[in-house]
Amino acid sequence: MASYRILLTPGDGIGPEVIAESLKVLEVVQKRFKHEFQFDEEQVGGAGIDAHGVALRPETVEKAKKAAAVLFGAVGGPKWDNPQAIARPEDAILGLRKQLGLFANLRPVRIHPLLAADSTLKPEVLEGTDMVVIRELTGGLYFGKPQKRWETARGRQAVDTLKYSEQEIDRILRVGFNLARQRRKKLTSVDKANVLRTGQLWREIATEVGKEYPDVALEHQLVDSCAMRLIREPSSFDVIVTENMFGDILTDEAAMLSGSMGMMPSASLGKRDRKGLGIGLYEPIHGTAPDIAGQKKANPLAMILSAAMMLRLSMGLEKEAAAIEKAVDDVIAEGYRTPDIAGTGSKTVNTIEMGDLVAGKL
Ligand code: NAD
Repeated sequence: MASYRILLTPGDGIGPEVIAESLKVLEVVQKRFKHEFQFDEEQVGGAGIDAHGVALRPETVEKAKKAAAVLFGAVGGPKWDNPQAIARPEDAILGLRKQLGLFANLRPVRIHPLLAADSTLKPEVLEGTDMVVIRELTGGLYFGKPQKRWETARGRQAVDTLKYSEQEIDRILRVGFNLARQRRKKLTSVDKANVLRTGQLWREIATEVGKEYPDVALEHQLVDSCAMRLIREPSSFDVIVTENMFGDILTDEAAMLSGSMGMMPSASLGKRDRKGLGIGLYEPIHGTAPDIAGQKKANPLAMILSAAMMLRLSMGLEKEAAAIEKAVDDVIAEGYRTPDIAGTGSKTVNTIEMGDLVAGKL
């Protein structure tokens, strides 16, 4: 029997509520497919600050490093919002990404046909949409130096630096090519090569790496036209790969296609082994939703689908991941919805009931 260590970091607000439902589903997977999941749990974010004075303890990082994966709820909330505070909830996610060397953020965007009507886009535009957007996490404008602001005789000034190394560009592109290989074999590399030197380097390296993946169709697209194409013909994408800030913006735009944040999982990945597996941090894209926390209204499906991604991308358990995704599809097909995705004629259920329904389908 294969055994895997999983570190649970529920965090704040609806984080613990949705983590509990993903745990329920994983416990069924463990029995049905005869695996052993060894769960450990750590308080992070605001809960970590309240319990230990810091959002992320070194002990938590050590446990994460020994685990196959981290299942992360969400962190933050009004209680810890003071910008002057030394300890901030988001230090937990940023610290874990850094300490675990996670450099690739993956957000799959797949529109369930029955939920297409909830999107702000027309269902016919969304039809067939099934893509993954990969965002580079460790380079670019957010980390380049110099990064500062200062006063001059003629007013305030500020500078941020957009910097990328060949190695950083190469490794994220390979994540894209490898993923495209497992899917419809189409990779869109997004840059701003018409204006930026980093964009030109990005495009050059994408073309070079592409020669090693002749079976994957590589296309280059400027970020501005990519933003338009995402809402004009989203079904034309398979895998998109881009740098940190473009990815920050495009992943949110892509997330909007699906209508609800409660449906969107994500993965942050680091170095992969020869089988393409390795540690990852898996979390829903939504935050702690303080407006509905404690009311059993949270949609746990993004968290449950994040657990499926974990099984696939950190443990190589494809059958098990697909079984969870099918269970979610079946529950939706039967008309069950949490309030955020409820429509006319649907059966509204709470967080716990939704978790029970998915677990029951397995
Ligand atoms: P949010 O994602 O928490 O909520 C935005 C809206 O979506 C709210 O109306 C909320 O009720 C709804 N929503 C979110 N997830 C839902 C779910 N699973 N089911 C049903 N409805 C859901 O974003 P926000 O309000 O901007 O941020 C709230 C807090 O979360 C802030 O403190 C923010 O810093 C934090 N946050 C954390 C993360 C993270 O931990 N990765 C990400 C984003 C925001």
